[in-house]
Amino acid sequence: MNPERRQILGWGAAAAAGAALAPGLRLVELALARTPEEAASKLQRWGLLIDIEKCSDCDACVTACHEENGVTGHGRPATDAQWIRKASLRDRATGVVQTLPLMCQHCEHPPCVDVCPTGASFKRADGIVLVDQHVCIGCRYCMMACPYKARSLVFSEVTEQNPEVPRGKGCAEGCTLCVHRVDKDRQPACVEACVKAGHNAMVFGDLNDPQSDIAQRIAKYATTQIRADLRLNPGVRYQGL
Ligand code: SF4
Repeated sequence: MNPERRQILGWGAAAAAGAALAPGLRLVELALARTPEEAASKLQRWGLLIDIEKCSDCDACVTACHEENGVTGHGRPATDAQWIRKASLRDRATGVVQTLPLMCQHCEHPPCVDVCPTGASFKRADGIVLVDQHVCIGCRYCMMACPYKARSLVFSEVTEQNPEVPRGKGCAEGCTLCVHRVDKDRQPACVEACVKAGHNAMVFGDLNDPQSDIAQRIAKYATTQIRADLRLNPGVRYQGL
């Protein structure tokens, strides 16, 4: 779908999409028939552990993410795509403020997937939550459903894309955990940058592997799921929060 057509469809497209197809055939079935996750295994669940006490005021993770994924700003903070941001949380009881990197939490029960009318928003077998840019109609339901404000809509033409990271005007998007790297046994760009900056605040790995560094740290230390009350079981955990 070209960007102009995507724009024209806008908000009403979600409801119209089902009606436009042959009876009994919904876009979500087509989406589920795809096999983008062939490389993914149900045996793994990829996750991130972020130690807030080691996280400094720097934004190395944000810069690295956006460079890796070709996410460039246009000087319009309200609409510029943002895959990761440094957020401030204030403890209402003590007034203590902590800053932390916030991105898609790769929920086990992702509301963005539940509300997506086309199946563009989907979860791989290994827990990574993605958007299929070819199927997304830009309805923005996922952006409204996500309690972490982790999804953005691309409002501007995209240039200089990383060929491994498809993006497009009129599509929703968010952190992919650098799935293109993970499938090649590499770390997400934010994690690499944090190590390079000397902070070592981020650990990436398999939550299901009891031998992995991340699983052992989660077993040993108290960690937090942001908005655990929502029972989404995010794959991103925080230490020292
Ligand atoms: Fe979906 Fe938001 Fe959860 Fe990511 S954090 S999986 S975008 S609901």
